[in-house]
Amino acid sequence: MARILLVEDDPALARGLATSLKSAGHTVDIAEDGETALIAARSEEFALITLDLGLPDISGIEILRRLRREGNTTPILILTARDAIEDRVEGLDLGADDYLLKPFEPSELEARIRALLRRAQGVASPIINVGLLEVDPARATATVAGRDLELRRREWAMLERLVAHVGKVVSKDRLASEIFGYDEAVAPNAVELYVARLRRKLGDNGPEIRTIRGLGYMLMTS
Ligand code: CA
Repeated sequence: MARILLVEDDPALARGLATSLKSAGHTVDIAEDGETALIAARSEEFALITLDLGLPDISGIEILRRLRREGNTTPILILTARDAIEDRVEGLDLGADDYLLKPFEPSELEARIRALLRRAQGVASPIINVGLLEVDPARATATVAGRDLELRRREWAMLERLVAHVGKVVSKDRLASEIFGYDEAVAPNAVELYVARLRRKLGDNGPEIRTIRGLGYMLMTS
């Protein structure tokens, strides 16, 4: 369960991949050209980027080069045609984390993504405790005093974001884009609804999600 930026200029392929990734529980944003991909990668936080190398405007290799030069460390999975061996090698040299040859099965893509996310999360965050709340990003599980929270996809995305910024305000817009993706129509009160649900699931023993009026929400440390 992660927010993924899918960079792919073939609309049918992009839609197909997005559908299968969403059904695997991810939040997916699609960029159909290089310029859009760069803007998205610079302005939003993604857990992973899948990058088609053959794009109409800026090549995938150039996107990779620019993002890494700017210090962007988001895991990048290159999706490329079978004949572009040199690009693959160059991509890995430039800091791509893995590559997958087209055509591929959705299940293979999903497996590679899981592996990359596990690797990234293993480095970045083992298990996080906030009071009696325990969050395991690698396994996508959360418990309060040992009780499993049984979170749905968007509740999990919201909790992950709040936990990553515990003790700090997370804006409503940020939460909305995190849990819905930026091109999805979001009802004005959708974030409130999910916060309410998450509060209910955290219960009396879990940490408080405080509303900071006009600014957003904060997960309290005590
Ligand atoms: Ca392409």
